[in-house]
Amino acid sequence: MALKPLDIFKFLPKTNCKECGFPTCLAFAMQIAIGKADLSQCPYVSEDAKRQLASESAPPIKTIIVGNKEKINLGGETVLYRHEKTFYNPTGIGVLIDEDMNEEKIEGEIKNICEMKYERVGVILKGEFIGIFDKGKGKFVEIVKKGYETGKNLILMSDNIDNLKKAIEISKDVRPIVFPDTLKDEILQIVKDNNLPIVVKGSNIDEISENVKKVKNSGVEEIIIYVESKKISDVFKNLILIRRSAILKKNKELGYPVLTIPAFLTDNYLKEGIYASIFIAKYGSIVLLSKLNGEVLFPLLIERLNIFTDPQRPMTTPEGIYEIGKPDENSPVFVTTNFSLTYFIVSGEIENSKIPAYLLIQDTEGLSVLTSWAADKFNADTIANLVKKTKIEERLKKKVLIIPGVVAQIYGELEEQLPDWKILLGPREAAHIPSFVRNVEI
Ligand code: SF4
Repeated sequence: MALKPLDIFKFLPKTNCKECGFPTCLAFAMQIAIGKADLSQCPYVSEDAKRQLASESAPPIKTIIVGNKEKINLGGETVLYRHEKTFYNPTGIGVLIDEDMNEEKIEGEIKNICEMKYERVGVILKGEFIGIFDKGKGKFVEIVKKGYETGKNLILMSDNIDNLKKAIEISKDVRPIVFPDTLKDEILQIVKDNNLPIVVKGSNIDEISENVKKVKNSGVEEIIIYVESKKISDVFKNLILIRRSAILKKNKELGYPVLTIPAFLTDNYLKEGIYASIFIAKYGSIVLLSKLNGEVLFPLLIERLNIFTDPQRPMTTPEGIYEIGKPDENSPVFVTTNFSLTYFIVSGEIENSKIPAYLLIQDTEGLSVLTSWAADKFNADTIANLVKKTKIEERLKKKVLIIPGVVAQIYGELEEQLPDWKILLGPREAAHIPSFVRNVEI
């Protein structure tokens, strides 16, 4: 749970020496409390204070890091509702492969989890997990090998000691999650020896708490909870109880990430997708699907992107040069701001125009064109600096820069700042870009 400024202040030296970059120790404490400064900025904090602050400020849901090539943080959340602060660690999405699947289906799903990727707001969206379900058919270890080769994060669902040992031997550098059916001492020992996370299940919060205690007493600290039920209403209710108990009552036995498997709640794939979307919103740390189809996976990835963005900050696109179509040395350059919606609309309309072009995106802290112009964050100076910084002219013979029509006021100044460029005033509305480029001489 986040500490209050005075809780932090009492650990500081109170000399007001300013070396941390803040005028007083109290001002520094206030910035730490809101996450805008880090304790390491004060060179005089004792090791003991650092330790105490670290343990007191640890999030009520433990953060568990899995994976290697595709490292992912699970849990680590501090609030019930994202508008209170933000949700930090996006739900991992994956596919469940069980031994009953035929070879073709197994290969197909492994291919899907590797190849189904979508780009949105400059972010690559994809699934991260493969759950492998040992049903005693003798293929488990072989499937683990295939899963491991993908570099994805693995969940080893098995109670078979030999199989688990072999699977862990193959995959331990990606920190697989072990999901046994029963909490046998031998399995706990293997998990402990290999320093791996384990899934602990129960059908209600009392049973889960008991099992978590047992696992913690065995010395295993990295736990992921699974609510065992065939009913969506039970799972949903328990996910909320778990989160509320961890955040509001600081119940340490329930302060762990949660695994969900909607495929175990329905045979209907579309319903499964709906259940997965519920678990992404509340409060699944991992969601495993029975198969990956674009019409279910894509909306889930978009939902995840939306849920796990900071609601207090607009979504942004990284500053830089974006190629639309296959631009060459004679292609025009459009410029706009890094508010994601602006980027999507402008890039989509350039694409619709069928004229290959470069799109320069300026970092305006997520503000739209007019707002950033009004805030003096998108003007002739900033655009000229961006043009120079990105060295876009090295890709061009003809230097044509198209600015948004709503900032006509900066046209003259920009011409002065970029004398080698032909500046064109684009349309006021992005929707008019296709007709604009068809009717203007570039
Ligand atoms: Fe206080 Fe440390 Fe900052 Fe100095 S560097 S003002 S002691 S918090």
